[in-house]
Amino acid sequence: MIQMVDLKGQYEKIKEEIDAAVLDVVSSTAFINGPSVKQFQANLEHYLGVKHVIPCANGTDALQVSLMALGLEPGDEVLVPAFTYVATMEVIALLGLNPVMVDVDESTFNTTADIVEAAITPNTRAIVPVHLFGQSCDMEPIMEVARKHRLFVIEDNAQAIGADYTMPDGSTKKAGTVGNVGCTSFFPAKNLGCYGDGGAIFTDDDELAARLRMVVNHGQSEQYYHDVVGVNSRLDSIQAAVLDVKLKYLDQYAAARNRVAETYDEAFENIEEITTPVRERTSTHVFHQYTLKVGGEQRDALKAFLNGKGIPANIYYPLPLYDQKAYSKYVDSGFTLPATERLCRQVLSLPIHTEMTDEIQAVIIDGVNEYFAVR
Ligand SMILES: *Cc1c(COP(=O)(O)O)cnc(C)c1O
Repeated sequence: MIQMVDLKGQYEKIKEEIDAAVLDVVSSTAFINGPSVKQFQANLEHYLGVKHVIPCANGTDALQVSLMALGLEPGDEVLVPAFTYVATMEVIALLGLNPVMVDVDESTFNTTADIVEAAITPNTRAIVPVHLFGQSCDMEPIMEVARKHRLFVIEDNAQAIGADYTMPDGSTKKAGTVGNVGCTSFFPAKNLGCYGDGGAIFTDDDELAARLRMVVNHGQSEQYYHDVVGVNSRLDSIQAAVLDVKLKYLDQYAAARNRVAETYDEAFENIEEITTPVRERTSTHVFHQYTLKVGGEQRDALKAFLNGKGIPANIYYPLPLYDQKAYSKYVDSGFTLPATERLCRQVLSLPIHTEMTDEIQAVIIDGVNEYFAVR
């Protein structure tokens, strides 16, 4: 069976290490805030080159807690791309903030400094760039806009952990560490996935880190003293132990995903209706998804054809957020963003993961070729 992601195959290769790490937690019974959490936190801080990692329960919480710790208040406008996973939007709405949906660049799927700057009003307080499908937005121009207008920048890095962003001076920073705060998810299918739910927040700002730590822990400054309204959001010790093993392989995993992507790129080079993923100039790609644009109104038929042959292919995302029932109330009727509209009609993501074999990839490629040959 061909799968979008092969978690089982990946586990088999590191089974001994994982099993030992998990059993270690179980036999210690330090299920909450055990030593594995501290150890993973330190190793992730080192890997990302960031001063503070605050582990939490999932990527959605990471975003919510960040908005809370920054002191955003009801009515504050937050700029968010309409072409993203719903979680980015959801937390803004949940906190009573005012989401202002912006477009993305049609070639990279990421939002840009020009796009966000055009949407700024006197009520704008924050920007949430999403590093979609595995590469960082061009952050420095976005930071310039943010500095000019005194806005917070919260990076949604759930899909791009491990990508390198190139700063204007040529040095590199890890994706998610350029803004005021970065958020990620350790959902199993993410590039750094645990065996359940998990997430983390990163920042270089000491004061903000202290507030983030308070918010994830019931707003507590010392035990049973609660200074602010918080939440209960923890990464459990078993998940931290799994992640600490997998972090060592993250760069290898990204390299494997890039090999798969390059093979697809070459295979589809001459199919007129297909546009293969365009790389950001200022970021490496870790290919959380390998996403084609399929022209000529062929996307849905191609998807059905592949699925009919047992080849998974998914649409991330089928509907602009402003067309979702829950979020249409945040825009005027008739509101539309042209790139987002076209992408929702054209994108199709093919299987990509760390365990892809040449044989399986050939079946997927043959499926695509066959569709365009027989059409
Ligand atoms: C997965 C994801 C999230 C949410 O992460 P969870 O751990 O599932 O809560 C947020 N934003 C983006 C872009 C994601 O892909």
